[in-house]
Amino acid sequence: MHEQKQRPVAQIRLAIDSAASEPVVIPPEETEHGILFHPSGIPSFVQKELPEEVSDKINVGTAGEPDMHSCTIRTYYGIFRDKEEDSQLYCPKCGRQLAGNGTVSSTLFHLPEGSAYTRLEVIRHRYRCTNKECRYSYVYPISFQASGHMVTQLLFDYVKQLLSYGLSYRQIASITGLNKNTISAINSQAV
Ligand SMILES: [Zn+2]
Repeated sequence: MHEQKQRPVAQIRLAIDSAASEPVVIPPEETEHGILFHPSGIPSFVQKELPEEVSDKINVGTAGEPDMHSCTIRTYYGIFRDKEEDSQLYCPKCGRQLAGNGTVSSTLFHLPEGSAYTRLEVIRHRYRCTNKECRYSYVYPISFQASGHMVTQLLFDYVKQLLSYGLSYRQIASITGLNKNTISAINSQAV
C-alpha cells in the first residue's frame, strides 16, 4: 500500500542581513496566501513583520483646488542598523563607552507598488554616553534616505526619472503619493 506523505512545512526566511538582526520568518499559513518576495534594494532595512494596509485619501491638487484620490497605503516595519553598530561604540567627546538609550522611529515614503503607496517605518537605536557629565547622544543616519527629504533614495531617484519623462507634478503625485511641494523640492535638487 503506497501511503501519501505529508509535505514539509516551508518557512521562508528573508536573509537580508543576518548579522544585523533576526530574519523575518513568515508563518507557514501566510505563505499559502500568495506572497511575492523580492530584494528590496535596501539591505540595511530588516523587515520585522508583514506590512499593514490602510485606505486613505490624498490630495494631488493644491490646498486651494483640492483633488482628492482614494488610495491604499502599505506600511512596512523594520529596523535599520549601521554596520558600525556591531562594534563596541565609544564617545567622540570624552572617550567613554556608549550605551543603548531607546529607539527612534522615522517614517519614509517609498516606491509605489502598483496603485498602492508605501511607507517604511524605520526603527533605529539611540546611543548615549555613559559619562553622566557628558551629554553626547547619537542616532545613525538612515543610509537609504534621500538627503533633506523624508523619502527613500530609491523613491527620490524614481521621481527624478518621472520628471525626466516630462510628467507633471500632479501626475507624479498620483503615481507616488507625494505632495507637489515635495516633488517640486526634489525637482530643484541636484542628484
Ligand atoms: Zn562622552
